[in-house]
Amino acid sequence: MAILVTGGAGYIGSVVVEDLIGKGEEVVVLDNLSYGHTQAIGADVPFYEGNIGDSELVTRILNSYEIEACMHFSAFAFVGESVEKPQIYYQNNFVETVHLLDVLIKNNIKKFIFSSTCATYGEPQYVPIDEAHPQFPTSPYGWSKFMVERALIDYDAAYNLKYVAPRYFNACGATERCGEHHDPETHLIPLVLQVAQLKREFISIFGDDYSTPDGTAIRDYIHVSDLSQAHILALEYLRGGGDSQFVNLGNGGGYSVNEVIEAAGKVTGKNIASKIAPRRAGDPSRLIADAKKAREVLGWNPQIPDIESIIESAWAWHLTHPNGYGS
Ligand code: UDP
Repeated sequence: MAILVTGGAGYIGSVVVEDLIGKGEEVVVLDNLSYGHTQAIGADVPFYEGNIGDSELVTRILNSYEIEACMHFSAFAFVGESVEKPQIYYQNNFVETVHLLDVLIKNNIKKFIFSSTCATYGEPQYVPIDEAHPQFPTSPYGWSKFMVERALIDYDAAYNLKYVAPRYFNACGATERCGEHHDPETHLIPLVLQVAQLKREFISIFGDDYSTPDGTAIRDYIHVSDLSQAHILALEYLRGGGDSQFVNLGNGGGYSVNEVIEAAGKVTGKNIASKIAPRRAGDPSRLIADAKKAREVLGWNPQIPDIESIIESAWAWHLTHPNGYGS
């Protein structure tokens, strides 16, 4: 039986596809390539270009393969853009996901793994953040993911859909083949590496007056391969008859923006110029996961928690892919 992976040409989806194939799983990818890259998908993986909300296409895929479960990665994920264009976020991330779910249910596919996010928590009331932390997102992006989470609870109650919805903290790092290539790039680690590659003069540090030891914001950086492992474990968990779960995925520690820049300097051996800039709207001072539940429920055990190893993997990918997935 096969796993349908939506967004399998994207950053996290492509790593999970790679790992599923490595485990001998059969995989089918659906991606509309709005942000994904065909080069990120292995040549021998069946690939359909199209939207998750295209019920006719999804039905055709379900009729062509014996699909056991769906891993749903495809989503728009730029927080700032979601404030300016909420319509496309609610449409793509929520409405289209409901269409996808409806086709799955209709075809009796009831195992679903959904990429959620720590952005569903909003401004942290305490750290580390556990799954019981109140959820009140601060952006349409966070709300669009939160609304899918809500739908999953109701679809489980009504249609017996069983899901695992990992809430990612800061995904980063790379495998040998798959790395982070966003256009536009907004994430700290790839931007810092662009400075090391002389593609950018300096990195802006968004705020140095946070209530943290060095004044810069702290995030829980989690390697994309560790995220991927959690998805493989979630699949096994659902296969074993596990109940639906929301789980945080993070290392339970954190690094400040300054610490990331310093680590990147060490790893690359380059001078990383930086300039203090105003805080970015909506950025909390600290986001740290309590990921005990993922360890207990899924048996998850992240392998690459230290920031230098994470950056080393990203740097290695950028060196072999100086233009990302571009020519
Ligand atoms: N950040 C920064 N300069 C940049 C990009 C990001 O100082 O050019 C900071 C950002 O304010 C946050 C941290 O780096 O505190 C991680 O940001 P990123 O966009 O990578 O992930 P996010 O936490 O927003 O999901």
